[in-house]
Amino acid sequence: VGVITEVGGETGHAAILARALGVPAVTGIRDATRLIAANSPILIDGQSGEIVLNPVVGKIDACLANRESFDQETRDAVGAEVRECVTRDGQKIHLYANIGRPFEVEQISRHHLDGVGLFRTEYLFLDEPVMPSFDRQRELYQEIAAALDNRPLTVRTLDFGGDKRPAFLDPQFEANPNLGLRGLRFSLMASQELFRTQVRAVLHAAKDHDVRIMLPMVLGAADLSQAIDLILEIAQQEECADLPAIGALIETPAAVFAIEEILAGSDFISIGTNDLTQFILAADRNAVAMIDDYTVLHPSVLRAVHQVIQAANRVSKPVTVCGEAAADPRVACLLVGLGADRLSMSPVSAARVRFAIRACHQRSLKELAEAALACHSGDAVVTLLSDTLPHTLPEF
Ligand code: PEP
Ligand code: MG
Repeated sequence: VGVITEVGGETGHAAILARALGVPAVTGIRDATRLIAANSPILIDGQSGEIVLNPVVGKIDACLANRESFDQETRDAVGAEVRECVTRDGQKIHLYANIGRPFEVEQISRHHLDGVGLFRTEYLFLDEPVMPSFDRQRELYQEIAAALDNRPLTVRTLDFGGDKRPAFLDPQFEANPNLGLRGLRFSLMASQELFRTQVRAVLHAAKDHDVRIMLPMVLGAADLSQAIDLILEIAQQEECADLPAIGALIETPAAVFAIEEILAGSDFISIGTNDLTQFILAADRNAVAMIDDYTVLHPSVLRAVHQVIQAANRVSKPVTVCGEAAADPRVACLLVGLGADRLSMSPVSAARVRFAIRACHQRSLKELAEAALACHSGDAVVTLLSDTLPHTLPEF
């Protein structure tokens, strides 16, 4: 029915899973398991982040009324999902899905999405007692790609480390796991075997389907080309004539500063706002206190996102935004103002994002983005969005 966690932030993986399942969740309620007795009635407001223990009748009624208006807005938005995602002045925005489990693939056609912009493959591995075999992975990737009916499947190679560690890997002590052996660094330095097996399976799935490879936590030209050379070597061994498109996930400050060289070496890029935010602001995405000013709306993060989008547009390489930021209708509008024309999000969020974008003019979103880039704090951007968007979003 709902989830409350003691630890974790709103872009942490517990929140991402809850979002994928459409379950209301509030994260970071310290001591919740001590403070909340079993069977206590409780209200969980996933929009405001408020929970109320033993609520009085008036509070329950207000919450139910809130839920009804949220559900009504969602029904309206879902009813309009067959419509193209285009701004009022004609800018087409492509919407893709973030998925982590095979069963989510059926939501892509249900929500009229253009394909999978981010397949987080770690979830396939996290609960497994042994590393999934080549055959198992090939089968899975093929099944998902086939279900997409010619729409692209962007497979992110394993992003182990940080808060994603499978049971079959020895626990390894790291004082700062988010800054340790993770992402591409893990694949290249700690376990090339896992990476090679996965790439081999993806290459096989790519023989008959539009499957693309995306590399997480890229820092620059050096690690990118090392990974691409490995993929090329595997492709040769497997006698794959056509190499799939290979892209880099831009989620470290290093990658922002190396964006030109990364663009030169890749077919596409995608911006991972979850990690990019935590690394630019030095603010753990899973930490409880990281709210308010420690968000993707902080001007420094927005400036980084803007620079990356501009750099990609200059060389006409596709750029998608695939962090949780794209799943919030207001932030999605701001991203369109910053120049993004591809957004990838949990499928359940897509209806409201489409609805919001269709209510806006690209021209006014660009002005909004310029004002946001000139702000001095995340709070100021939040205020700017609430002051400006209701005028541009009459349907909200
Ligand atoms: C991100 O960091 O924004 C991202 C898309 O990857 P993940 O959330 O899986 O770390
Ligand atoms: Mg990430």
